[in-house]
Amino acid sequence: MLIQISFVSIQIYAVIRKSIIKLQCVDEKSIHINMSYSVIQAKVMDGVNSTHEYFMRQAIKEAEKAADINEVPVGAVIVYDNRIIARAHNQKEMLKDPTAHAEMIAITQCAEYLQNWRLTGATIYVTLEPCAMCAGALVQARIDRLVYGAVDKKAGACVSVMNLVQNPKLNHRLEVIPNILADECRDILKRFFLENCRIR
Ligand SMILES: [Zn+2]
Repeated sequence: MLIQISFVSIQIYAVIRKSIIKLQCVDEKSIHINMSYSVIQAKVMDGVNSTHEYFMRQAIKEAEKAADINEVPVGAVIVYDNRIIARAHNQKEMLKDPTAHAEMIAITQCAEYLQNWRLTGATIYVTLEPCAMCAGALVQARIDRLVYGAVDKKAGACVSVMNLVQNPKLNHRLEVIPNILADECRDILKRFFLENCRIR
């Protein structure tokens, strides 16, 4: 009986989490329409790096949202057809879910938006080098490109600890562009951990 009840609550939780992500997704649809002006701005910025920096700044904004709610500040956006179609930040504490990393939530939003689990043609911008879970999910999602900010020497799975996203034995490999606004991305994390040390 107890097992049945906890199984039902897990199912209810899964439905609620999916609804939260869907709601965020609906929100994204209106956001990305409103963002078309910003996207035009990004297009006219000269050079590919400026475009990467523009979208990374949007990921940084997401990381700041995470810091505001006392989550480790990591943010991500996914760009498709030069538009942001998913944006998310780490929500592990709030959702009490070890899989609620910014990248995982953004991947789900993007798949929901495209109505396709294959995220071919999309680029993810994330403030921190993805971990093994997120790197694996990016490979599974067949996403084209990963642009990240700071390296994660302790858990990064794109260069630091291992390289899952460009493993020749796997059936999909991503183009990787590292170190975009790396200092800013690292500073948010440093500030967060410093402040939390002081509080504790
Ligand atoms: Zn991760």
